[in-house]
Amino acid sequence: MGNTHSQSSLESCIQSLAGNRALSSFAAFPGSPTYKTDWARLYNLNFAVVPAAVARPETAEDVAGLVKCARENGVRVQAKSGGHSYGNYGLGGVDGVLSIDMVNFQHFSMDNDTGVVTVGAGMPINVLNQKLQNAGGRAIPHGIAPGIGIGGHAGIGGIGTMSRMWGTTLDHVIKMQVVTADGEIRTVNKSSEPDLFWALRGAAPSFGIITSLTLITHPAPSPIAQYETTLSFSPTTLSSAPLYSVWQQLISDPSLDPRFGSLFILTPMGSLITGTFYGSQSEFEDSGIPERFPDGMQPHVQMTDWLGAGAHLAGQMGKWMLSTQTGFFVKSLAFRRNELPSSLDVQEIFKWIDDQDKGTILWFCVFEAVGGKMNEVSVEDTAFVHRDKTVVWQVWAVVPSMEGNSVLVDKARKFVAGLKDQFMKYAKGVDGMYPGYVDPEMGEESGQRMYWGRNLERLEELKRVWDPEERFWNPQSVRPADKFSGKKRLGVS
Ligand SMILES: Cc1cc2nc3c(=O)[nH]c(=O)nc-3n(C[C@H](O)[C@H](O)[C@H](O)COP(=O)(O)OP(=O)(O)OC[C@H]3O[C@@H](n4cnc5c(N)ncnc54)[C@H](O)[C@@H]3O)c2cc1C
Repeated sequence: MGNTHSQSSLESCIQSLAGNRALSSFAAFPGSPTYKTDWARLYNLNFAVVPAAVARPETAEDVAGLVKCARENGVRVQAKSGGHSYGNYGLGGVDGVLSIDMVNFQHFSMDNDTGVVTVGAGMPINVLNQKLQNAGGRAIPHGIAPGIGIGGHAGIGGIGTMSRMWGTTLDHVIKMQVVTADGEIRTVNKSSEPDLFWALRGAAPSFGIITSLTLITHPAPSPIAQYETTLSFSPTTLSSAPLYSVWQQLISDPSLDPRFGSLFILTPMGSLITGTFYGSQSEFEDSGIPERFPDGMQPHVQMTDWLGAGAHLAGQMGKWMLSTQTGFFVKSLAFRRNELPSSLDVQEIFKWIDDQDKGTILWFCVFEAVGGKMNEVSVEDTAFVHRDKTVVWQVWAVVPSMEGNSVLVDKARKFVAGLKDQFMKYAKGVDGMYPGYVDPEMGEESGQRMYWGRNLERLEELKRVWDPEERFWNPQSVRPADKFSGKKRLGVS
C-alpha cells in the first residue's frame, strides 16, 4: 500500500464522489498549482511529505466514500483536523497517503439542560472555546496552541493547564461518530462498540476518521488567576538548575491543589514559570503555592477569565512554539513522580546543555505539570495510558532543513536526541511519551510502546479486528496483532 496504487484510478474515484460539486473545492492532487502551498501545506518543514490526494469532504457520507476509494485503490488514509502534528501525520507522515481534511466539519450544538455539546471534528480549539463561552460560559480542558483541531486533540489526549483539575480533553468525550476502515459510518460510545470507543480515545489515527464528537462541559471557572514570573536572564542553563528543582519539588507534591496548572520554560536566556490558578487571587495566596516558588521568581498575578487565560498562555507560548510554518525537531518524555531527576541530576543535565553546540539559538524546553484529575481515570478506561505521570517534558530546536543548512540541522538533531538520552540516563525507568508529541525519528516499535505502554497489546488486537489491512496508517500507528506474531514485542517478556 502507499506508493503502489494507481493514481489515476484513485483520482477518478474521488472525482466521481464530488458529483456535481466543483472538484476544485472538494479535492486536489499532486501537480495542482496550490497543492503544496494550500491543500498539502506542511506544519513542520523538516518532515516533507506529499499525499496522493487531499480531499475536503462535507459530510460523513463523503468521508465514507473517500475511505472506500482508498480501499479500492490500496491507499492508506489519515485525517487532518488542525494539522498540528509535529510529523505532519495528518498528511500521512509519508508520501502517497490520502489525507482527509476535516476543515468543513465545523458544526456546534449544545443541549442547554445538560451542557453536553456535539462538535465537528475539524473545529480548532480556539473557535470551540469561543462557542462554548457564547453558549452560557461553558468550557472543556484543552492544550495551548489555538489552531489545534478537536479531532486530532481529543482522539489522542488533550493536555492543558486545567488538566490537573479536570483531566484531558478525551476524558470528556462521551460519544463519537466515526468512519471505520470498511467505509461504515458508526456512532460509538460506552455501550455501542465499546472497544472501538475505547481505542478512539487515545489512538484514533489508527482506527478511523472521527467526524463529530459529543463532550461533557463544565461551567467556566471565574475569576482565574493567571501568573508568570519574569525571565531569570541566567547567564548559563546550569544557573537555572536550582530554580527548576524547586519548581519540580512544588509540582510533584501529591497534595498540590488541582486548580494549579504550571509550566517551567527553559530558554537560552534563562527560565520562567507561567500558568494558571483556577480561582481568585486570595485563594491562590491562601493555597500557600506562591511562597513555594523559587527565590527570586515570584509570580506576578493578573486576574482574568477563561478566554483571557487561554489567550494569554497561547501568546506566551507562541513566543517559543512558533505558529508560522518552519522546521523543527522535538523530543519529549512523560515522567512518573519517582522518575523525576534529583537536584544533582538536574545540574548534570543542565550543565550538559551548556556544553552543546545546538546548531540554533531557537531552542527551548517546556516542563508541564500533569497528574491530578488526569490520574484519577483508570488506565483501562481509555487507550490513553499516561495516568501515572507528573511531568511532561519537551525540547524543541527550531532550524529548517534546507539546502546549505545540513550542518546546523545535524547539530540541532543531535542536541535534542542527546538531551532526551540525558534525561533517560538520569531519570531511570522513564518509558513514556505523550502521543500528541509524536517523534517521527523514533523507531516505529519503540514509539508505539512509549505512546501506549501497556495498552498497546489491546490496541493491536483491536486493530486486527477493525482495520487488519491498516487502511488508517502513519509511520507510528498501531499495527494489527498478527503482524507481530512470532516476534518478540519491545518491552514484553
Ligand atoms: C504548537 C503546538 C502546541 C501544542 N500544544 C499542545 C498542548 O498544550 N497540549 C496537548 O495535549 N497537545 C498539544 N499539541 C499537540 C497536539 O495536541 C497534537 O499534535 C494533536 O494531535 C494535533 O491535532 P490536530 O488535529 O491539530 O493535528 P493533525 O495534524 O490534523 O492530526 C494529528 C493526528 O491526529 C489524526 N487526526 C486528526 N483528525 C482526526 C480525526 N478527525 N479522526 C481521526 N484521527 C484524526 C491525524 O491523522 C494525525 O495522525 C501541540 C502541538 C503544537 C504544534
